[in-house]
Amino acid sequence: MSTNYDADVIVIGAGLAGVTAARELSARGKKVIVLEARDRLGGRLYTEQRFGKYLELGGNWMHWTQPHVWSEVTRYGLEADRLARAEETYWFANGELQKGDLPGFMDLIDPGMEALVGASGKLLPRPDLIASDEDFAAADQLTLQQALDALDLSDDERQANEAAWVGHCNGPLDQVGFSAAIRWTAATSGAWKVMHEASSVYRLKDGNDQLVKSIAADIKGEVRLNAPVTAIEHDDQGVSVALENGSTLRARKVILTAPLNILHELDITPPLSEAKRQASQAGTASQGVKLWIRVKGPIKPFFAYSTKDHPLSVVRTEFVGEDDAVLVSFGADASRIDVTSVEEVSKALQVWRDDLEVLEIAAHDWNADPHAKETWLIHRPGAYSQSQAELQRPEGHLHLAGADIANLWAGFFDGAIESGLRVSREVAQALDEN
Ligand SMILES: Cc1cc2nc3c(=O)[nH]c(=O)nc-3n(C[C@H](O)[C@H](O)[C@H](O)COP(=O)(O)OP(=O)(O)OC[C@H]3O[C@@H](n4cnc5c(N)ncnc54)[C@H](O)[C@@H]3O)c2cc1C
Repeated sequence: MSTNYDADVIVIGAGLAGVTAARELSARGKKVIVLEARDRLGGRLYTEQRFGKYLELGGNWMHWTQPHVWSEVTRYGLEADRLARAEETYWFANGELQKGDLPGFMDLIDPGMEALVGASGKLLPRPDLIASDEDFAAADQLTLQQALDALDLSDDERQANEAAWVGHCNGPLDQVGFSAAIRWTAATSGAWKVMHEASSVYRLKDGNDQLVKSIAADIKGEVRLNAPVTAIEHDDQGVSVALENGSTLRARKVILTAPLNILHELDITPPLSEAKRQASQAGTASQGVKLWIRVKGPIKPFFAYSTKDHPLSVVRTEFVGEDDAVLVSFGADASRIDVTSVEEVSKALQVWRDDLEVLEIAAHDWNADPHAKETWLIHRPGAYSQSQAELQRPEGHLHLAGADIANLWAGFFDGAIESGLRVSREVAQALDEN
C-alpha cells in the first residue's frame, strides 16, 4: 500500500463519537478527514424543526450525571431545559386504567426497581471500566424479562415495571439483556430514580444539534458530508478508504464509528474478527419505536404507561400550548404500529384516553435507516460479556468507536463522547510512537 497519505486519520461517521474523535485528534496536530454518509452531522442525534418546535427524532435527553456530555454542555455554554411537568399520570392496575400523579406511579414501581437494580452498584462498582465480575457475568446471561419474573411482585407491579423498562430499553423485554438495566443504574451508583431522570428529562433548549455542531466547528480539518464509505482496506502501512463516488483516500489510521448493527455489512479487508462480526450479525435488542404526536389542545401535561405488549408502552407531553400539545411516545417493537397512520396512532392512544385528536405525527424509521439499523444500543443477553472487550480492540490500524461500545453510558450521547475521547487518545499515542 502506498505511504502517500491524505491524512493521519480518517474518521468514518460524523455522529457524536466521530466529531469528538476528530476534534481531539486535530487539537493534537493530527491531520484528519471526516467522512459522513448522510447530508447532515449528528447521526442518531437528529434535530428537525417540526410542528414549530425542535423535535429530536433521535437522541433526546442528557443529564449532569453523564460526565462526558455534560462537560461539552459546559464547554460550549449550551442551555439545557426541561419540558412540561406532568400534572396527570395514567397506568393500569387490576386490568383497569388508573389516574393519579407521577409520584404515585413511582411508588408503585419502586419495590420492583429496588429488587431488580438496587444492587447494581455492587454488581458493577466501576461502570466506567469493562466489567469482569463473575456475578455480573452471570446476571448478563438473563433477559430483563427473566430477571423481572424472578421477583416477588404483584401482577400490577410487574406490569407497571415492565412498561417503564420498555421506555428505557426500546425492545421486547424477552430479548433485552438484564445487563442493560444493571449498567444504566450502576451509572447512577444504584439510584434508579436518578437514572430515570438522567434518561428522560433534560434536553438542549435550542435543539440537541447545537451540541454536535459546536464540537464539529472545533475540528481543524475537513468534514465531508454525502460521503458514504464503501470499503476499507488496511495493512501494516496504513489504510485505504474507498468512497461511493469512486475515489480512494489513504491515511495512517482509520476510526470507524458506524453503529453496531451495520458493522458486519461493511466491506473490510482483512475482515473484522469473527467475534466482532458475530456481535454485529446477532444485532442489538433495540428494535422499538419513538414518535412525536401533535394533538389538539389545550390539554394538561400528562405521563402515561400501558403494558409491554401495547404498541405504545409510554407516552407523555413534551410541549404544551394553547391550541395544541406535542407528545413523545415509545414502544418495544416498531413493527407493531404504522407511525405514518393517524388512525393507528389515535387507536393506540385510546388505551389511555379517547379525547385526544391526533393532528400530525413525526418519526424516523431508524430500524430501516441503512446507516443505523437500530435505535439506541441495548444488548441481548450475554452479548456484553461476549463482545464488549473485543469490539474495543483495534485491528491493525483500524479502530472502532461509538456509543454502542462505550463503557459508562453506552447507547447514550455520553457514551459516544466517551468512546470518541478514548479512541482518539489511543490513536494519537500510537501515531506519536511511530
Ligand atoms: C430514537 C432514539 C432515541 C434516543 N434517545 C436518547 C436519549 O434520550 N439520550 C441519549 O443520550 N441518547 C439517546 N439515543 C442514542 C444516541 O442518539 C446515540 O447513542 C448516539 O447519538 C450515537 O452516536 P455515535 O456517534 O456513536 O453513532 P451515530 O450517531 O450512529 O453516528 C455514526 C455515523 O456514521 C455514519 N455512517 C454509517 N455508515 C457509514 C459509511 N459507510 N460511510 C460514512 N458514514 C457512515 C452514520 O451516518 C452516522 O452519522 C437515542 C437514539 C435514538 C435513535
